[in-house]
Amino acid sequence: MTVAAPRIRMLIDGQFIESASSHWQNVVNPATQDVLAQVPFATPGEVDAAVAAAKEAFKTWRKTPIGTRARIFLKYQQLIRENMGELAHILSAEQGKTVPDAEGDVFRGLEVVEHAAAIGNLQLGELANNVANGVDTYTLLQPLGVCAGITPFNFPAMIPLWMFPMAIATGNTFILKPSEQDPMVTMRLVELALEAGIPKGVLNVVHGGEEVVNAICDHPDIKAVSFVGSTRVGTHVYNRASLAGKRVQCMMGAKNHAVVLPDANKEQSLNAMVGAAFGAAGQRCMAASTLVLVGEARQWVPDLVAKAKTLKVSAGSVAGTDVGPVISCAARERVEGLIASGVEQGAKLVLDGRNPQVDGFEKGNFVGPTIFAGVTPGMRIYDEEIFGPVLVILEAETLEDAIDLINANPNGNGTALFTQSGAAARKFQEDIDVGQVGINVPIPVPVPLFSFTGSRASKLGDLGPYGKQVVMFYTQTKTITSRWFDDQTLGHGVNTTISLK
Ligand code: NAD
Repeated sequence: MTVAAPRIRMLIDGQFIESASSHWQNVVNPATQDVLAQVPFATPGEVDAAVAAAKEAFKTWRKTPIGTRARIFLKYQQLIRENMGELAHILSAEQGKTVPDAEGDVFRGLEVVEHAAAIGNLQLGELANNVANGVDTYTLLQPLGVCAGITPFNFPAMIPLWMFPMAIATGNTFILKPSEQDPMVTMRLVELALEAGIPKGVLNVVHGGEEVVNAICDHPDIKAVSFVGSTRVGTHVYNRASLAGKRVQCMMGAKNHAVVLPDANKEQSLNAMVGAAFGAAGQRCMAASTLVLVGEARQWVPDLVAKAKTLKVSAGSVAGTDVGPVISCAARERVEGLIASGVEQGAKLVLDGRNPQVDGFEKGNFVGPTIFAGVTPGMRIYDEEIFGPVLVILEAETLEDAIDLINANPNGNGTALFTQSGAAARKFQEDIDVGQVGINVPIPVPVPLFSFTGSRASKLGDLGPYGKQVVMFYTQTKTITSRWFDDQTLGHGVNTTISLK
């Protein structure tokens, strides 16, 4: 007898409910093809019900004392820590990344929850005393109302935690639409959020794909939308939700270049590159997927290939695995198609990771570490985001040439420079047109004291996730100019215009 896969529930008005939808999709373990669960594509009525619950809850949540809000996130961070092992195993099974990497995924989200617990210090207005005689001006950072978040498959813990904790801590209510490919760990995090004390209606979850996302973009009662995912979908979400009058932020696709100068520490730089290119099977928006070797460093390709060959390709659940499967059969076929295009377009395939032998996981979506040398702009493997364990190598004569190459690429998510020269590092950070820069740090994702600041084609909207910027994103600044009359003083006349003299 086959046991039916569990059905993933939605969260509407504090209740975990099963969708009435007739459209369900399997959540699949990418290493085994086992069906772990089924996820619904919510009906329009269910989206409306979630938004109505969030709208109603906003009436009281917006006035909840800041200390009460902060204490929920203090409790929440504790619950996430206590359940770290379970969360990482759920995540690894549905997403494919190794268990240590899955713990990292949860941990980077946990850091944002810790930051949300400090909301008392973050959501402060400004005050100027005596801007005119007896007049003060001050600002309030007020929540917007119902906000929504749409998340990708590659960080199913971290990215939902980029969104709803800061939105809710600032006094908003929230609709979360997780990735339909791996919603299970997200739902466990949502359960823990309720256990931490988030009141009913303040956090709601609907599942689905294009139709649910479009309903969120169009809904008149949703005030702001935060999106993380591909450039294709993010551009659509930005245009559609902006047209509907919403505040929107979209973090999107990337092509992150790492530049290695010949004076770099060779061993450390190549080790960092191998981890940053192939870790998480290359499915990181900040993966160092493009290597630019400068001058004598152009001779280092064989050493890099030798290191990449030592990586173990297997299921994320197997101890010692370095590279797990990609998320789906379709993703594997797309990555393999791009590798084939690289060969056809004349790049040199110096390490071919296609069809690796993975004992015990013959059905998994595996692609091993793959390296192309002799890559140039105009080849699809350079122009497109591959989002798999494929590193493309370009060459440059000088640091200036490398900077020109990177600045000519439309994407601006992340970049890194490996060097021992402070002067070269300073020139790079000054002249490079990319939002997040690492100096001898291959994946420079900022901690939540700062904001995530991808730029150019990798981002739409002015303000990024977490850090100070997201407090501005999730609040409206109201500026009050106030004068109080002393009851003991008799008024003279009716002119209430403030004199600025
Ligand atoms: P995706 O764009 O396919 O999906 C993201 C979300 O959009 C999902 O919730 C999905 O259900 C929804 N969606 C999919 N197709 C849609 C459509 N036609 N209309 C409306 N909504 C739709 O992205 P993905 O494959 O899940 O994630 C990988 C991508 O995300 C990569 O491009 C990666 O670079 C990017 N990413 C960017 C960042 C960043 O911070 N810049 C972080 C993580 C991932």
